[in-house]
Amino acid sequence: MKNLGEHAIVIGASMGGLLAARALSDFYTTVTVLERDTFPSADTPRKGVPQGRHTHGLLARGSAVLEQFFPGYNNEVVAQSGGLLGDVANDVTWIGRNVTLANGRSDLIGLLASRPVLEGHLRRRLLALPNVRAIENCAVRGLISDPASKSVTGVRARIEDKPEETVSADLVVDATGRGSSSAAWLEALGYQPPADEKVEIGIGYMTRTYRRRPTDLGGKLGIVIAGSAPTWRNGAMLAQERDSWIISAGGFLGDDAPDNDQGFLAYLATLPTMAIHDFVASAEPLTAYRRYRYVSNLRRRYEKLARFPENYLVFGDAICSFNPVYGQGMTVAAQEALTLQQCLRAGSNDLARRFFRAVSRIVDIPWDIAVGNDLRHPQVKCARPPMLRFINWYIGKLHLAATRDSTLATAFLKVVNLMIPPPALLNPAIVWRVWRGNRRSVLAASSPAIGRAA
Ligand SMILES: Cc1cc2nc3c(=O)[nH]c(=O)nc-3n(C[C@H](O)[C@H](O)[C@H](O)COP(=O)(O)OP(=O)(O)OC[C@H]3O[C@@H](n4cnc5c(N)ncnc54)[C@H](O)[C@@H]3O)c2cc1C
Repeated sequence: MKNLGEHAIVIGASMGGLLAARALSDFYTTVTVLERDTFPSADTPRKGVPQGRHTHGLLARGSAVLEQFFPGYNNEVVAQSGGLLGDVANDVTWIGRNVTLANGRSDLIGLLASRPVLEGHLRRRLLALPNVRAIENCAVRGLISDPASKSVTGVRARIEDKPEETVSADLVVDATGRGSSSAAWLEALGYQPPADEKVEIGIGYMTRTYRRRPTDLGGKLGIVIAGSAPTWRNGAMLAQERDSWIISAGGFLGDDAPDNDQGFLAYLATLPTMAIHDFVASAEPLTAYRRYRYVSNLRRRYEKLARFPENYLVFGDAICSFNPVYGQGMTVAAQEALTLQQCLRAGSNDLARRFFRAVSRIVDIPWDIAVGNDLRHPQVKCARPPMLRFINWYIGKLHLAATRDSTLATAFLKVVNLMIPPPALLNPAIVWRVWRGNRRSVLAASSPAIGRAA
């Protein structure tokens, strides 16, 4: 590959930063990842990634891209840490619009392991590359720039308790997550910050892990419930390493699940299936309850800025963070890393403009999926274009038909797993199956699958 410079810096060593560094490692002599936290010696949660204690699953697309960057990654997580590979359409029960989608075999393979395990394996693989290194306990505090060339030339950072120092680089990538300071850092250099788009959803996660036996859930690897009227409560129960289940539940706009046994069970009983409730009622807990509050879907429109410094990029959740219920964030970061690789193949000229434009096309799809579904909730505030009403009506019909048609269910899950774009659900063969599955005679015959899910 073409060498584009001596040194690239990535700020943040979470999933986004690690993936960005992998893409850069093909084009820069040395890549340094600067991380504020200490890396945990075992794959345990850490301060800078508080979501690491909560349910994470890697969608089929994310698992495939990680394999592309680090061949053997998925099997390593399974063999060394006890992660589980499963057929997303067959091994997991999906409930949306209060109905259960039909299971069926597919080529959608997802990886189940706790978030710290996914990150730990990725970090070890990245740092095994000869030209990549990481500096822990390194808090980046701002950018340094060369006003004459309108370029970022490095960062100001504090390593452990030492005085602030500058670290120079030919390219700096901000992968510091949703709380990114890029807007302020850019303003300090005389640039406009990006416009924000926010859709407030007030999602709560109440999470706990439990002992797993192979016979639980009839051998399935999980249940995912996307909330719908009347309660709009979400739930997820996913198998993880060390014979454990991770279970999260929570609703919109402050409708959080309680952090005590009686209250949590009562909350689980309001979900459209009793399966999680019945499991928890007699399960052995392995951890305390943990709470997480997720305020809003948040997208920063870097692609719309007229002026942006050379040699600087923003990446991952720092560009866009989505309602986590749809499990998209790590996969979107993986797709962005592929895009970064493609952009770098064309050289470093005009890199930021090319990268942000390409990323905005990637982000459009998961953003529309997440926000489009969140806007079904009548109290979530945002304009609802007529097209969205039609799409949500059609997806509702698709769900009804997919309770008996695993081909339809798999097509829908391919979209959710970011394998195919949403318009694929409007192709004539799919529309015909949706129509066929919604004929009155078919719906009457399938009534037990509708309403309260099995
Ligand atoms: C509750 C919850 C559940 C989720 N579930 C899923 C799921 O099932 N599937 C999925 O794909 N995604 C999920 N996500 C999203 C996923 O966690 C993120 O998309 C993913 O972590 C990528 O984020 P990131 O690396 O861009 O940022 P982050 O994970 O936020 O990491 C930012 C990193 O930057 C470091 N940092 C911050 N500031 C500085 C600084 N100044 N100097 C140096 N380092 C700094 C932090 O310590 C941290 O390591 C979930 C998110 C939440 C909140």
